[in-house]
Amino acid sequence: MSSNVPDAATSSLLRQIPAVDELLGRPALRSAEARWGRRALVEATREVLQRLRAGISSGAQAEISPAKLERQILAEAENSSRSSLQPVINATGVILHTNLGRAPLPQAALQRVTEVAGRFSNLEYDLERGERGKRDQHTDRLFSQLLGVERALVVNNTAAAVFLVLNSLAEGGEVVVSRGELIEIGGSFRIPDICAKSGALLREAGTTNRTRLADYAAAISDRTRALLRVHPSNFRVVGFTERPPLDQLAELAHHHHLPLIEDLGSGCVVDLAPYGIFDEPEAASSLRAGVDVITFSGDKLLGGPQAGVIAGRGDLLERVRKNALFRALRVDKLTIAALEATLRLYFDGKTQAIPAQRMIEMSREVIGSRAARLAERIAVIPGFSVVLEDGESVMGGGSAPGQSLPTRLLAVRHARRAASDLEGSLRRNLTPIIARVERDRLLLDLRTVFEDQEEEIVQAFGRIAASSGENPWN
Ligand SMILES: *Cc1c(COP(=O)(O)O)cnc(C)c1O
Repeated sequence: MSSNVPDAATSSLLRQIPAVDELLGRPALRSAEARWGRRALVEATREVLQRLRAGISSGAQAEISPAKLERQILAEAENSSRSSLQPVINATGVILHTNLGRAPLPQAALQRVTEVAGRFSNLEYDLERGERGKRDQHTDRLFSQLLGVERALVVNNTAAAVFLVLNSLAEGGEVVVSRGELIEIGGSFRIPDICAKSGALLREAGTTNRTRLADYAAAISDRTRALLRVHPSNFRVVGFTERPPLDQLAELAHHHHLPLIEDLGSGCVVDLAPYGIFDEPEAASSLRAGVDVITFSGDKLLGGPQAGVIAGRGDLLERVRKNALFRALRVDKLTIAALEATLRLYFDGKTQAIPAQRMIEMSREVIGSRAARLAERIAVIPGFSVVLEDGESVMGGGSAPGQSLPTRLLAVRHARRAASDLEGSLRRNLTPIIARVERDRLLLDLRTVFEDQEEEIVQAFGRIAASSGENPWN
């Protein structure tokens, strides 16, 4: 029998599929209309009927139960009413997880966004003079005070910042970059590509592992417009390596009347050495070494909203500001509100109020005692066993590559279910919980879990136990 000709039984079942209006007329669905709305219920019904049709045609479905269809329609309506973008619980221990939205915003930033975004604001209005102002004014002064720079501009992200700086300062000329810094950051940010798009010709200097000052000097010609240094964010070159100190590179650039640009990526504004993180370049020390323009992210170590910060010498920043492309890359009032509030926390020394900073500063002992308390609660749920072990959290988001923060992990197992299975169940939890699987153990790192999310983790394990046929609370 040819597979695309339905047999008699299948044809008969297909003819019995109820009409959309017939299903929606059922009392339970009629009363659900008040909650979900007519339109959502019609869509949900169509979706469920389409699945039914496919099931019958493939032979997987041998009967039609209107009561079952009704339940499926209600579930579908509930499911599609949920937002696509939703909060998740990050139990991976990766603080600046790009896939999970990088830095969670400080409360103070959320509050400013709420206050400013729902009303009119002085986004581009000078209240003193009663005339048109610039949106840069809201963060410019705080950046100047925090970094000691003459001026700072904010664009959509660091990729945009690097692109705009190169286009403003080096279009039509050459920019010298070490071969060891022609990097790719996740999501296809590649220095050679950004350079090409900006209209600046990339002039490579040195080798992958060693680039000396003399290599830069040899690459400089009358076509050179700038030197570019890039933080190799997500890898480390170890062994036989060399690159000139920043101050010597700045001296060389200035000797040739060229600006030195540095793409820092993360843009650390506080010293992380007390937490065991070295080598993460601090924005202020780059500037002190003589770098003329730095670029860095708002939502990496800074712990604020997605943004690309361009900071440095006033005359160069003015050229960047005058570029017509600035208009295409500028940020909106939500970002400015959140960024200003985040910067103010640094200014006031309240780094503990910045979640990303707080998570970096959290000691293994603090994480360990939280983990021990949570382990006790999970271990009493039937089917589960938990052990605590030493592990490592990482910064993520291209910060501090090859370095980690010591942590305590919960390693969870279930008597009959594989760790990958548990991982999937947690991921499909109403508030999704993202965890790691290693050697058939489910690993949870509480460094990136907010304390008020721990209860939801216990509840989720309880639901897994219930769905595995055990009464979780007996
Ligand atoms: C992360 C990173 C970028 C890209 O930053 P976005 O804000 O995500 O655009 C660029 N350069 C470096 C060195 C980075 O680490």
